[in-house]
Amino acid sequence: MGTAVEEKKASPKIEESLDLLTSTQITFKEALDKLGYSKEMYELLKEPLRMLTVRIPVKMDNGSTKMFTGYRAQHNDAVGPTKGGVRFHPEVDENEVKSLSMWMSLKCGIVDLPYGGGKGGIICDPRSMSMGELERLSRGYVRAISQIVGPTKDIPAPDVYTNAQIMAWMMDEYSRIREHDSPGFITGKPLVLGGSAGRDKATAQGVVICIEEAAKKRGISIEGARVVVQGFGNAGSFLAKFMHDMGAKVIGISDAGGALHDPNGLDIDYLLDRRDSFGMVTNLFKNTITNQELLELDCDILVPAAISNQITASNAHNIKASIIVEAANGPTTLEATKILTERGILLVPDVLASSGGVTVSYFEWVQNNQGYYWPEEEVNEKLRKNRIRAFNNVYEAAQQRKVNMRLAAYMVGIRRMAEASHFRGWV
Ligand code: GLU
Repeated sequence: MGTAVEEKKASPKIEESLDLLTSTQITFKEALDKLGYSKEMYELLKEPLRMLTVRIPVKMDNGSTKMFTGYRAQHNDAVGPTKGGVRFHPEVDENEVKSLSMWMSLKCGIVDLPYGGGKGGIICDPRSMSMGELERLSRGYVRAISQIVGPTKDIPAPDVYTNAQIMAWMMDEYSRIREHDSPGFITGKPLVLGGSAGRDKATAQGVVICIEEAAKKRGISIEGARVVVQGFGNAGSFLAKFMHDMGAKVIGISDAGGALHDPNGLDIDYLLDRRDSFGMVTNLFKNTITNQELLELDCDILVPAAISNQITASNAHNIKASIIVEAANGPTTLEATKILTERGILLVPDVLASSGGVTVSYFEWVQNNQGYYWPEEEVNEKLRKNRIRAFNNVYEAAQQRKVNMRLAAYMVGIRRMAEASHFRGWV
């Protein structure tokens, strides 16, 4: 696998799926209640409208055939086609995919894209598979879900442990099935196959813009700010680099193997240069600290960019950062959100902070549809404008409604979908 992995898993354990779905539903309910929507609206939105489970036979290199299980969830398509990544991971499960599709709906609502949320996943360990096996699995998945996806139905993209190469195989398979070239079927493609300039860095770029806006609100200057980044995958590594280049002091980073800390600032360029194709770099060092110690470091800005359930009721009291920007999906539990809010920490939630990726995916899809491609500066400029507006919409909603940023983001994200469902006469 290449280095363009959408997100990095920093530990093998994914959060308890039932909790993930339940906590998502609790916040959906709270947001809909605050907006004055009926119980029927909650019943419509509390789970995806469609969930497909597929079993995919794959010929392995040793001649055997192995069965893989995959999913595609489509939360709600009242606004437009559904949109969201496909993750390859041993701990993918149905409830996780459902929750992630609901978060995609929120992301699309917050950044105002004409999409609903979708998400896919395959239970597999890509680190132990050859390129040939990965290609056959990717193609098999597209054949299995081809009936319910497409450029005007549901548009996949990269996610945990999937990258531009996997998108290219999937796009090719879909184009063969439909018997015409279909670049708009999937985003996050290589540039030569209709990918967008700036898509690979978009998630990190989007987080950086949120950090800048949050820092302004708290009167913190980026120049010299002490930043800790958990996770060194696609989002985390680009992010550490951008913050470093902007003059911030990145004092801590981590990967699945452990974490590095230097109060004088780490040499990010050196670390980027030394990491392997799975983003691992800490294994080259002796004086590492744990991921938990990393989260509790004395810093100004903490960016969890790894996996879910990292900041919980048991460590939320020990966090020293004054701003937390969630680049990962679901790094903070509901209880921890409450504690951090009470402690006056500005928490920029995942559905807002990590929505830069899908925003540039949308730009990619628009460019595919019109067959006309924009230079990177244009993509970045459009992304910046979109994000500043989205951040401030959520921030103002939080101030006006006197709620935390997470609930405000859910309210902003859910409103358009609820309105569209209502106009369509569904509720
Ligand atoms: N997987 C990314 C996310 O969770 C990107 C989705 C997309 O680009 O459609 O936001």
